[in-house]
Amino acid sequence: MKRAEIRITGMVQGIGFRPFIYNLAQKHSVRGWVLNNEKGVFIDAEGDDGNLNRFIQDIPKMAPPLSRIETFQINYLEPSGYRLFEIKKSEEAEERFVLISPDIATCDQCLSELFSPRDFRYRYPFINCTLCGPRFTIIKNIPYDRHKTTMAPFTMCLVCKKEYDDPANRRFHAQPNACPSCGPSLWLEDREAKKVSVDPIEMTLKLLETGAIIAIKGLGGFHLACNAKNEEAVSNLRSRKFREDKPFAVMCRDIEEVRTHCEVNQEEERLLTGVERPIVILKRKKDSLIAHSVAPYQDTLGVMLPYSPLHHLLLNGSLKTLVMTSGNVSDEPIAYRDDEAKNRLRKIADYFLLHDREIHMRCDDSVTRVFKGKPFIIRRSRGYVPFPIKLSLPLEMILACGGELKNTFCVTRGSYAFLSHHIGDLENLETLTSFEEGIEHFKRLFNIEPKAVAYDLHPDYLSTQYALSLPDLPKVGVQHHHAHIVSCMAENGIEGEVIGVAMDGTGFGTDGTIWGGEFLKANYKDFDRVAHLKRVPMPGGPMAIKQPWRMAMVYLADTFGDGAKELKIDLMKRIDFQKWDVLKRAIERKINTPWTSSMGRFFDAVSSLLGIRDEVNYEGQAAIELETVAARDVREEYAFRIHQEQRSMVIDLSETVKGIVADLEKGVPASNISGKFHQTISRLITETCKIIRTRVGLNRVVLSGGVFQNMLLISLVTKELEGSGFEVYTHHLVPTNDGGISLGQAVVAHMRLFQCV
Ligand code: ZN
Ligand code: ZN
Ligand code: FE
Repeated sequence: MKRAEIRITGMVQGIGFRPFIYNLAQKHSVRGWVLNNEKGVFIDAEGDDGNLNRFIQDIPKMAPPLSRIETFQINYLEPSGYRLFEIKKSEEAEERFVLISPDIATCDQCLSELFSPRDFRYRYPFINCTLCGPRFTIIKNIPYDRHKTTMAPFTMCLVCKKEYDDPANRRFHAQPNACPSCGPSLWLEDREAKKVSVDPIEMTLKLLETGAIIAIKGLGGFHLACNAKNEEAVSNLRSRKFREDKPFAVMCRDIEEVRTHCEVNQEEERLLTGVERPIVILKRKKDSLIAHSVAPYQDTLGVMLPYSPLHHLLLNGSLKTLVMTSGNVSDEPIAYRDDEAKNRLRKIADYFLLHDREIHMRCDDSVTRVFKGKPFIIRRSRGYVPFPIKLSLPLEMILACGGELKNTFCVTRGSYAFLSHHIGDLENLETLTSFEEGIEHFKRLFNIEPKAVAYDLHPDYLSTQYALSLPDLPKVGVQHHHAHIVSCMAENGIEGEVIGVAMDGTGFGTDGTIWGGEFLKANYKDFDRVAHLKRVPMPGGPMAIKQPWRMAMVYLADTFGDGAKELKIDLMKRIDFQKWDVLKRAIERKINTPWTSSMGRFFDAVSSLLGIRDEVNYEGQAAIELETVAARDVREEYAFRIHQEQRSMVIDLSETVKGIVADLEKGVPASNISGKFHQTISRLITETCKIIRTRVGLNRVVLSGGVFQNMLLISLVTKELEGSGFEVYTHHLVPTNDGGISLGQAVVAHMRLFQCV
């Protein structure tokens, strides 16, 4: 006889861990008990030697898919003669702080019940168990108990209740447990809110087949769906949604269907089929039958697999691929309440597929791709949030407010950083409200009372204004690119001093200009700006972002002066010189013309120079299309110059611009020029890092900023830096775009305020 006391911490609560332990104990004839307390799961187990050992070994090996074991401690005791194994009532203090599970894709067992005609949940769109189903989006408050979720109005029937109370059952304490006789239900209605009284799923399918657009209430908000192979339906959706070119995501029935449209490698398949079920950006096959207007001017497609029972039912009919784009008009946040959706989407959707399980927290689909054989998260939201990022050092409780575009906020507690779901672009009242409500919700869920607040230095960001309006809290302004670099350091668990390369669109600099092509000598607390792109004017401020031709003209004028007008390149035929003259005067008189060292703006300029995009319809479009056309087999590159100014090195791109113009005049195709251009930027980053290494002796390079969403560039740079002997760190868990900066802000604020060195 042997007895062991086992303490397990990590994500081990609310995801079927105790029933798993109970069943495992039965299997190995182990006796004793299991309970949850505020630190995690606590097991007292007794059995004969072999059985107890097998029981202990099986715990990490067979743990439920959603669990993440962080520590596992065993302590052997004198046997006490237990007669059976039981699940003890949780200790009182239990729920003050527990990790909360993200929403999880329907598990295989639920799926087979869903399609089994003998099962009493046959075709029930809300089937779930402790291994799957909604979590984060339905939780209103802690402790995570049914009456504190949006399942509260539904009283379990006897059958459901029996499952819920049975420790051996897969639905033991599954808070959203439900069935057709006691749970939520589904219905279809038209724009006039008139219920269509037939089988809602059958009817929805028929409508989709005829080209209709349906608003579908999902897990974290509404989707707008249509047949992805019907060009007319997709174009219709585009024009009604006022979304010109920004790609739509699609949902495919299964991985086989995905393969008919896209190339899928092993890691991409793993990501697509994982419990998080994010959108994965894949290389599109030329012969795919998906309508062109799903993702115009791109060679990729954002694809996801069904993640709720409703999706599985919808994709089980004749349509194997649906457009599933967020239910909003242009840049508004995704609609998630019925009344709000019906109001905002009535001009877009022909019908509404609704249900009465309320969504408490709006949560968009996550967006990912694969880089270097690992997930590379571009939008971290449904399926990932609110699972924390584990830090290598404990932090005080801090609220970090993030940036403006793709905003997320972050609250910290010990070594956990809770990065919020995707809030969106903080440019209107609707998003701001969502941001403020989100912060209150996270504070409540994780019992966090911030001791300090961190914010971006940009005075106009609504997140900054919100931070500054909070009374009685110490406040720390964090430079945008410092936050980017520290965010990447923190997720990689590295400390000390690094070379931070922040290639970005827009970030407020400490000198009041707009930064975005920055080389920082940085640690968690401070930074030194050791090199940056040469500053150029941005005539019209935000308009220069919307109209890349302005940046093209700026770079031409910077390189050729007034001679720019005489250049024999196509762009000169497209430019309205009257407009340009007005802008030139604005630059001279310093009217509405900030100065910038942004790499994102240089990509825009080159995109326009090559005739790819003079005006954009969504953020980043010019750079994305420049990457899309780039020839991958080019080895040549353009020249550039690096020189020392008083405090930092300056990278002058006029030689690059001259080279591009010379190639254009020779009629070299845009694909080659773009390929050469990407090579050049990679070389420029590597050369600058080498000079910095010689001067300051640092060998670790951290890459961050929105420009590194460019897969061609990040691959080239990583390879070249590693070839030069650098240790290179990139993002994987946290977005490289502004969706990741709140994490960096939190760490910097902690170091500035609470870490005295
Ligand atoms: Zn399940
Ligand atoms: Zn029931
Ligand atoms: Fe940024």
